[in-house]
Amino acid sequence: MRKVYVIGHKRPDVDSIVSAIAYAEYKRMRGWNAVASRAGDVDPETNYVLERFGFEAPLLLNEARGRALILVDHNEVAQAVEGLEEAEVLEIVDHHRLGGLVTAEPIFVHIEPTGSTSTIIADWYLRGGIKLSEEIAAILLCGIISDTIVLRAPTCTEKDRCMARKLAELSGLDIEELGKEMLELKSLKGERSPREVILSDFKEYTFGSVRVGIGHVETLRPEKLVNMRSSLLTELKHIKEEKGLSMALLMLTDVLKLDSYVFCVADDPSWFERAYGVKLRGGMAYMRGVSSRKKQLVPPLARLFGFGISSS
Ligand code: MN
Ligand code: MN
Repeated sequence: MRKVYVIGHKRPDVDSIVSAIAYAEYKRMRGWNAVASRAGDVDPETNYVLERFGFEAPLLLNEARGRALILVDHNEVAQAVEGLEEAEVLEIVDHHRLGGLVTAEPIFVHIEPTGSTSTIIADWYLRGGIKLSEEIAAILLCGIISDTIVLRAPTCTEKDRCMARKLAELSGLDIEELGKEMLELKSLKGERSPREVILSDFKEYTFGSVRVGIGHVETLRPEKLVNMRSSLLTELKHIKEEKGLSMALLMLTDVLKLDSYVFCVADDPSWFERAYGVKLRGGMAYMRGVSSRKKQLVPPLARLFGFGISSS
């Protein structure tokens, strides 16, 4: 039987890794030859989750040419494993905007604006009456907690809360306790070199002919990073040039206040204010109530630059 690789985005986070593991398992129980895989190194938060609940890191796939794939937790080519254009995508299970992928054949796509991909997969397990082990329940709960800042992010829906409650019950875990540990590990990302800070969770987007990169750091200690602002801006400029982007942003989210500091370098300095209605001061803006990249930073850019979808 053909091997199918279930894979999340590059620079994987907890949600990308645990959805790949849980969905591959789900597919195997339905007779597929599915293998959980990943498109990059595992971060400390994810490593903690895997070790604590007894899972190996999924198979590292550096390129996917000629392989059959199921994409989880992303659908944009710019965020996917190398060689995607020459792979065969069989399914997409995601909670992000549609980002322009085209396919040769009709495929199964499930995109739902939930707080995490783990939520969608947990729902399928529970509704399908498929046996959900304590360990799979635990890692799916971690996926929800990680993506929704412990159910506090503006992306968090009633469905996320409901699934989290059920998974906590099945795995015997305390959401707040687990959340505290994970926030602490997330914050470690913000304690590295400027380059690692920016790239640890950096996603690229294509809006028509404009390419934008946005790094996101969620931390309990944003002041540390704000104090490094000049070195972060210098490095952000390097990364923008290196990747040939028109604009590069770095979002530092204070996970207690759910506000963000956003750093910006762009070909046109007016883009930021036109998109967000906020003025940059010294390359930075403080944005109150903003903590989601996909829901609060990406949509205004898509509206400003256009989607590049041709209607002919
Ligand atoms: Mn993700
Ligand atoms: Mn996610």
